[in-house]
Amino acid sequence: MAGEKKKVVVIGAGAIGVCTALYLLRDGHDVTLVEKDGPAEGASFGNGSVIGEESVVPVAMPGIFWRVPKMLLNPLGPLAVRWSYLPQLAPWLVEFLKASSPARVEEISKALAALMAGTFEAYDPLLEMAGEPDMIRRTGWMGVYETEKGFANDSRYLDIQKRRGVEHEILQAEEIRQLEPSLAPIFKRAVYYPKVGYSINNYRMVRAFAEAFQRGGGRYLQAEVSGFDIGEAGPRAVRTDKETVACDAVVVAAGAWSKPLAEALGAPVLLDTERGYHMTYPTPGVAPRLPVYSTERAFVATPLENGLRVAGTVELGGLKAAPNWNRAKVLESHVSRWYPGLNTEGGKPWMGFRPSMPDSLPVIGRSPRHANAFLAFGHGHCGLMLAARTGALVAEMVSDKPMSLDMTPYRPDRF
Ligand SMILES: Cc1cc2nc3c(=O)[nH]c(=O)nc-3n(C[C@H](O)[C@H](O)[C@H](O)COP(=O)(O)OP(=O)(O)OC[C@H]3O[C@@H](n4cnc5c(N)ncnc54)[C@H](O)[C@@H]3O)c2cc1C
Repeated sequence: MAGEKKKVVVIGAGAIGVCTALYLLRDGHDVTLVEKDGPAEGASFGNGSVIGEESVVPVAMPGIFWRVPKMLLNPLGPLAVRWSYLPQLAPWLVEFLKASSPARVEEISKALAALMAGTFEAYDPLLEMAGEPDMIRRTGWMGVYETEKGFANDSRYLDIQKRRGVEHEILQAEEIRQLEPSLAPIFKRAVYYPKVGYSINNYRMVRAFAEAFQRGGGRYLQAEVSGFDIGEAGPRAVRTDKETVACDAVVVAAGAWSKPLAEALGAPVLLDTERGYHMTYPTPGVAPRLPVYSTERAFVATPLENGLRVAGTVELGGLKAAPNWNRAKVLESHVSRWYPGLNTEGGKPWMGFRPSMPDSLPVIGRSPRHANAFLAFGHGHCGLMLAARTGALVAEMVSDKPMSLDMTPYRPDRF
């Protein structure tokens, strides 16, 4: 019943879980947020911090099938697959390749655009509750190309963005230098997207939300969830290694680790992980004005308050394999060419697990088995930009409000 106060347990204090917990608290629920490590210590720790409405193009694009051999042969390439993980990855990979048909790409892109709309507005109440109104900067961002060929190859991305009404401006070499003087004059073309911004510190922002959640009366429990007590009406308690927490509703927002939890709630999902890397330079000695992105190299360089961060690339290798730090070194070699004078001293490498579905769309919805079990994970490359919006939508579902968006494309049982 709409307006009814419920005991809700949210599992996972990454960007998605924290924003969801805060939205639920705002709706008047009694919320417990359970996290095994600490707020924003998973994928939400080290992302590129970019927030915007232009990310309407899925990862699997037409023609990706022909790139698979290269992905297998080059462990340092922008998109790589670990041989040893191939047997486990196979069902995910098949759906990933199927999602790359032109018709599917168009559908997926529409579903991404619908979810992206209102990204910044969804963050506004959370920033206010955290007392941090200036943590998101709306500077726009720029996709850069070192060759005319690279730019021409990406025209299909731009075509999709145009069809979705994404605002953009194509820049020539001189205009690129005017917009971002700190870049080396090595780029022939760029696309500037004005409706994009970034958090000046994604980690501090999510932690500030987690603190606001506790200040507002939410309960934060540092514990690992191991399972559920299921009654006739669905999950009635969440079991952890510390205690069992009674609930009327549960939200799984455990990022790349959500699969077994969702399965225990009657929702088997084709979730896997696209591992990504970053380097953060604490005293970069250069001061870019806005995030700059390369599709050819699959990374972004973002000027955070705690340094210049270079983040990106995709490695399909599961949750267990050790990081390949050479992938982070490759990022350093690229970005050193971009910003002359970049001081790489003290640069810290990091690897994180993007929670990814084969079709680049998140899972946001009820378990097909239990009406009081909600799933919110699989945001892939867009988890920071979609976190507040996801939180708002999950709160609508849990609170039995009329939905402000058709949730069909994100349903858990679509594969
Ligand atoms: C290199 C890189 C660059 C990126 N750049 C961007 C970007 O610029 N913009 C953007 O929007 N997105 C970006 N992303 C993606 C984004 O970081 C993720 O989509 C997002 O962080 C996912 O958030 P989450 O809350 O779902 O997962 P996580 O942040 O991983 O949080 C999940 C949490 O659940 C906890 N957990 C798991 N299992 C349990 C359990 N059993 N019990 C208790 N707790 C549990 C984990 O400890 C973790 O803290 C990037 C990702 C990477 C790797």
